[in-house]
Formats: sequence, C-alpha cells, structure tokens
Amino acid sequence: DMEVAIKVVVVGNGAVGKSSMIQRYCKGIFTKDYKKTIGVDFLERQIVVNGEDVRLLLWDTAGQEEFDAITKAYYRGAQACVLVFSTTDRESFQSIETWKEKVEAEVGDVPTVLVQNKIDLLEETVIKNEEAEALAKRLKLRFYRASVKEDLNVTEGVFNTSSSNVCN
Ligand code: GDP
Ligand code: MG
Repeated sequence: DMEVAIKVVVVGNGAVGKSSMIQRYCKGIFTKDYKKTIGVDFLERQIVVNGEDVRLLLWDTAGQEEFDAITKAYYRGAQACVLVFSTTDRESFQSIETWKEKVEAEVGDVPTVLVQNKIDLLEETVIKNEEAEALAKRLKLRFYRASVKEDLNVTEGVFNTSSSNVCN
C-alpha cells in the first residue's frame, strides 16, 4: 500500500491560535497555555479521502513567525496552506496577504483556506464581517470562522475533507 502524506502549513501572526488549532485537530484538546515550542515540526492526523488512507501533517511554526524567522524548510513541499488571523487582532488580519505571498513565493499556488479564529470573542471583534469576506473574495480563498477554544468549525470546517479545501 502506498502511503499518502499531505503537508499542510499553518501560517499567520503570533498568538492567533495556530498551535492551538493544530493541537485541537490532531489531539482533540485545547489548553490555555499551549507551549510555543512543541519540540516537533508537525503533528499528524490520519484521515480517509475517497477511500484512501491519508496522513495529514500539520506543520507548526514554533513561534518563529514573531521574529520573521520562518525558514524555507518550513514551507518546503507544502501541498496546502491554512492562513489564520484572530478576531481580536487587527494586525493579524492586515498581515494575511503578506503571509499568502510568502507561502506562494516558496511553494507556488497551493490549495489555501482563510480562517478567522477566536469567534468566541466576537463581542470584542476588531474586524467587520464585510472586511473579512471581501479579503477572502479578493484573494480567492475559501473562508471559515472558527473557535479553536469552543471547537467550532475546526474539524468540520477548516479540515473538512469532504468539502473542497485543504485536501483537494
Ligand atoms: P499561535 O502563536 O498562533 O500558535 O497561537 P497559540 O495557539 O499559542 O494561541 C495563542 C493564545 O490564544 C493562547 O492563549 C490560546 O489559548 C488562545 N486561543 C487560541 N485559540 C483560541 C480561540 O478560539 N478562542 C480564544 N478565546 N482563545 C484562543
Ligand atoms: Mg504557535
């Protein structure tokens, strides 16, 4: 049996919830003080796509995004990308296009989704719905609003393999 593995890079400013999202999807848990450095490059989850076993490898940046120190090795061979910003961090929203360009510069045009995380904090939002939707439209990205904390739209949204997103 051929083993299929798909490398997915999860990208965005620090503190938007990338590590938490990877942990939520791969381990099913949320911890408030998730360590910035998890000591491994990625976590994985076994999924089934069209009857085939697929290993989804979710790469974490281990905090390097804060120093603009992400190396080419992080992006190398990525076959899909998750761009994340936070409901309560306007700068993280404004950085999305730059992140997309960085990924594109290394791996070209790969399937990519846009995620607004922390929608459990919508009452503190600094981003209008129309703005987020307009960005997704302009960059031609499938858009999800999620809460890693409340387990909303992570497994059934961002990483849902029956809808056409990261796995297609
Ligand atoms: P990263 O720097 O992008 O990897 O972000 P982390 O995963 O380290 O998360 C940064 C902080 O945001 C942590 O305190 C998380 O517990 C918190 N966090 C992550 N996702 C959510 C969410 O959906 N809602 C809320 N309220 N907090 C979250
Ligand atoms: Mg992190």
